[in-house]
Amino acid sequence: MVNKRILSSVLGSLGVLAVASTITVNAKASTYETTPMLSYRYSKKTANYHDKSTSVHYKYVWKKAVEAWKQKGFKWTSKESSKTNLTSYNDSSKKGLTIAGYDAVRYNPSNGYIIRNNVMINRAVFEKYGYSTDDQIHVAEHELGHALGLAHNKVNSKSVMNPANRFYSIQPCDVRGMNKRYSTAIDNDSVNPNQYVDVIEYMKVKPRVSRVSYKYNATNKQLLIKGQAEGFSKIAVKYGHNKVRIFKVDKHSAFNVKYHFKGYGTFTVYGVNRKGKIVSNKYKIGSNKYATEKTVVYKNTRNKNGEKIYLSNVAPSTIRVFNRGKLVKEFVADSSGNTIFISQKKLRKSNLITIDQKEFNKKTSVRVKVPKLQIGENNVINY
Ligand SMILES: [Zn+2]
Repeated sequence: MVNKRILSSVLGSLGVLAVASTITVNAKASTYETTPMLSYRYSKKTANYHDKSTSVHYKYVWKKAVEAWKQKGFKWTSKESSKTNLTSYNDSSKKGLTIAGYDAVRYNPSNGYIIRNNVMINRAVFEKYGYSTDDQIHVAEHELGHALGLAHNKVNSKSVMNPANRFYSIQPCDVRGMNKRYSTAIDNDSVNPNQYVDVIEYMKVKPRVSRVSYKYNATNKQLLIKGQAEGFSKIAVKYGHNKVRIFKVDKHSAFNVKYHFKGYGTFTVYGVNRKGKIVSNKYKIGSNKYATEKTVVYKNTRNKNGEKIYLSNVAPSTIRVFNRGKLVKEFVADSSGNTIFISQKKLRKSNLITIDQKEFNKKTSVRVKVPKLQIGENNVINY
């Protein structure tokens, strides 16, 4: 697994027990009432820390994250030297960019007490994926949650311990987890007290499709879809019931897809891993987004001279009128109400009138049928 490789490169010669988690996209999010705990803790609900970061910005990020936990009852105190170190690093390698932060802990398994604790956040991820300062603080709060003995809550949970947290601060479930951790003894099964255990808890970047924009190209009958792929390198596009198509993401995590298609189906855009498994949110583009809406025929009347059709349409647009599929009228509408007249001569042989409209930069609408009339009949829809 990708993460194990990263962890071993990060920790070098240390014996690593990685507590792994994988991201899956669940339709429904749910949250454990009490965020689960890990098998280590500080001896009391209080600890020193040494903030080793050098920039004003990252000192601020750690300060806010520490304060957030203090407010919820964990007493952190800044010290010049401590077994708990807070810092940031900058790993912009492809694999590095899948990890927003991690916490490397050594503890004594006989009592569960922490021997040393290195709490890290990845600056490269923050820069690459545009994490706001608040997002960065949430990552720092998450890593401090591990540092004090909390495990992950569920995937997609509303918890600072969401395995790919970016948007949540400390939630009531997390406070319950912390209180439980510090009122529960460590479960020690006859281990050698001279051993120590190293654990790393890391946080994956939440893969996300973002900044999506799209435009219809009528000449090539293509939808052009642009956007950012955060945390994955292949973008999947599914149109209607067609087979999924996979496109590349460039060096700057951008994608730019041209998709030729027919009809009025929905596009679904999402990130996939190398095996084609879905790893991100799904972004949907329905026909109401790329195609012009249908016209509305609210009245039509017919006499021996021909037929009048009263139309509600979008403006500006190009309106086309067909009889049995053959174009009988085309005009540019600059107002949203139009009356169309079709002479008896054009109607005589057959009478099956359909109308569509097209806005600039959008696909032509679905054609609507005009209710069929005999000479002397009227048809009105009252709204
Ligand atoms: Zn984590």
